[in-house]
Amino acid sequence: MKNHATNVRAALVIFASFCGASVFAQNPADAVDTHLVAARTAAGFDFTGTLARLCVAPVAVPETLRDVAPGPASARDTWFIEPAKVFDNLYFVGSKIHNSWALTSSEGIILIDTLFTYNSEEEIVGGLKKLGFDPAKVKYVIISHAHFDHVGGAKLMQDRYGSRIVMGGPDWDSIEKSVNGYPGGKPKRDIAADDGQKITLGDTAVTIIATPGHTPGTLSMIFTVKDNGKPLAVAYSGGTAFNFPSTVANFDTYIRSQSKMAAAAALANATVLMSNHSEFDSATTKIRMLASRKSGEPHPFDIGKEAVARYFTVTGECAQAARLKLMQPPR
Ligand SMILES: [Zn+2]
Repeated sequence: MKNHATNVRAALVIFASFCGASVFAQNPADAVDTHLVAARTAAGFDFTGTLARLCVAPVAVPETLRDVAPGPASARDTWFIEPAKVFDNLYFVGSKIHNSWALTSSEGIILIDTLFTYNSEEEIVGGLKKLGFDPAKVKYVIISHAHFDHVGGAKLMQDRYGSRIVMGGPDWDSIEKSVNGYPGGKPKRDIAADDGQKITLGDTAVTIIATPGHTPGTLSMIFTVKDNGKPLAVAYSGGTAFNFPSTVANFDTYIRSQSKMAAAAALANATVLMSNHSEFDSATTKIRMLASRKSGEPHPFDIGKEAVARYFTVTGECAQAARLKLMQPPR
């Protein structure tokens, strides 16, 4: 018995030293590569835009972000695109690059994200009218995060239509603190969303999942759309790129949020992945595909639960790689 115990202990010591040696012997560059390969495998051909942005060439960002004014308006032909019906109760009123979504309900519209100040009037207000909706029916505007390309139309919707504006508390703070960022005026602080909060309008609800990382107040969402009457759960990823100050702590926060959103998506059986940039969810391409969809064919946004899970593996693994690179001593 004693011999047996001694042998087990000796084996454990050998095993432990082997494991330890292998960890210490691992080349840091190999560890980064492991995450990059995991991200690439998860991306497949579904998420090449997200993979390219996050894994191929993420840029280092200084610790203090500059409080700058938005740039001048881009030429109209670089962003203008017609609105489109995407599901029974979800309409695209975005641009070629940025997404804005109108989720309709029995009591009005929930608008998700609002583009830039310079194109929200034409794409969102104009788009809703073209689709046959009254923009005054927008009761809630949920802003995934307070960057110029998503918050630009919030003030317009608040001032003209009295829409309630929902945003993460820390992002409301950043708007209030900004000196240069809102030369045309700021949206007034309204609803600061809590994690798990439901924004309910008539027969429709959007569940907020706080996913800090891209900004401290980034909000992701879970909601239901209908495809010819069939309900499908959507995982809406509210913040993606690594344009936050490049610190290990910030990457840790971002990585935790990707796992959290993956779990929320799985719990909701989400089979649709949506985002606020076409670069990440291929919205404009899928909307073009939808136009020629034949009866019985799958909806281009309905990619399945397993693919939705892979999306958050891509974002999480690319962040792991970027975090490890940060920890490596400069060459
Ligand atoms: Zn952003």
